[in-house]
Parts: sequence; structure tokens; C-alpha cells
Amino acid sequence: MTESNRNGHDLIIFSDFDGTIARRDVGNRLFHYFSEGKSEEVVARWKAGEIDSRECLRRESELARDTTLEEFYEFVDGFDLDPGFGDLVTLCRSHDLPLYIVSDGLDLYIRHLLDRHGLDGLPVFSNRAIIDEGRLNITWPYSDQSCGQCGNCKGYHVRRLKKPAQTAIYIGDGRSDVCAVPEADIIFAKGDLAEHCRKENIDFFVFDDFSTVTEAIRPRLIAESENRATRGEMP
Ligand SMILES: [Mg+2]
Ligand SMILES: [Zn+2]
Repeated sequence: MTESNRNGHDLIIFSDFDGTIARRDVGNRLFHYFSEGKSEEVVARWKAGEIDSRECLRRESELARDTTLEEFYEFVDGFDLDPGFGDLVTLCRSHDLPLYIVSDGLDLYIRHLLDRHGLDGLPVFSNRAIIDEGRLNITWPYSDQSCGQCGNCKGYHVRRLKKPAQTAIYIGDGRSDVCAVPEADIIFAKGDLAEHCRKENIDFFVFDDFSTVTEAIRPRLIAESENRATRGEMP
């Protein structure tokens, strides 16, 4: 018995959410909106490495004015997902490939946007938030496993979920993805993550939207299925 899944494929896929599955950074924009721009200074300090991401989120939520869940969702509804992401989900489901969303953002808007686009049921590992008497209340379920910089360290999730024989694909766009890079085998990057990979001489594929990723994976899956058919195995 190999480590591959029941269809014999050896891929495992991880994707960032903000700026990757969601075309824009929802977390960043929502704190900007609810703090009337005051969150920007905090984000700049995080980008400069002066504060960790947990401190960044904590301060951003303190700066945000009171809101209701209805108003929160109404704001979040203004964000689009990458139009090609649904195709990747379909491809993964039809080939039984594991696909995980890993985020240092908040489940409250990630789940809402996925549900709205008919993509509920995908596993999401992120920080958690509720709106409690108007305040955005954040908790960090994975902070004990953090590297010290991330609230939810993506490197931890790739390490714990990837089996030794699997090839891990990581897709991301920013600073919060950096810890996942050394744990993954194939990187698709844009934005600050692409910049980071260039600087560190790490091989990566540039992507603009998910169609690039899906079309890179599809031939590999077809080739694997054909190999198995040649060997007289089930497709
Ligand atoms: Mg991102
Ligand atoms: Zn980390």
C-alpha cells in the first residue's frame, strides 16, 4: 500500500485565501473599512516585522468600530473569488485530491464567501472570529504550534497534513505564506510571495489566477490515470 489516495494520485494541495482565492485581501480591507483607515499603520508595522500577525490582528480588531453580523456580511459580500477557483475544486473532487485552505485571516469571512459561491465543505484552517455584542472577538486555535511570527502558521499545517510520499502544492500571494514555502514541493506564487521566492532563490511558478494552477495539474492527473489503465488498474 502506498501513501497515495484511493485514486492513486500523490498530490496534496494547499491554498491561501486572502489575495489568492479571494482576489483582494478581505481581512485587510475590512479592518481598513471598520477602523476608517486607522488599521493601515498597524499593518505597516506587521509588514516591517515589528509585530507578529497575532498582535496585528488584535490591534486591528481593537481599532475597528462596533458592527453587527449583518453589516459585516454585507461588507464581505462585496468581494469576489478568483473565477477559476471553482474549477480547481471540481478537479480535486473528481480525482479525490485533498485541497486545504490555510489562512492567517478569519474563518468568519472565509466561510461566508465560500458558502456564497457554493464552495462550502472545503477544509479551512484559520484563526476564528465571532461578533460578540458588536465587537469582533478573535481566537487563535493553532497559536501553540506557531513559529512565533504567525497567528496560524501555514508551515505547521503543511507539515502535519502532507504524507511522506505526497507532493505538496502550495498557492499563495503574501508574507503570511512564507512559512509554508520550505514545507511544500511545488509553489505557485504572485505578489509579495513571488518577491520573497525571487529574493531567496526558491523555484516557483508565477500565476495570475487559478486557471494557471488547474491547467498545470490536469495533465499530470490524466497521465497518472492513463498509466494505471495501461497496468490494468482501475482508473
Ligand atoms: Mg494572501
Ligand atoms: Zn509561521
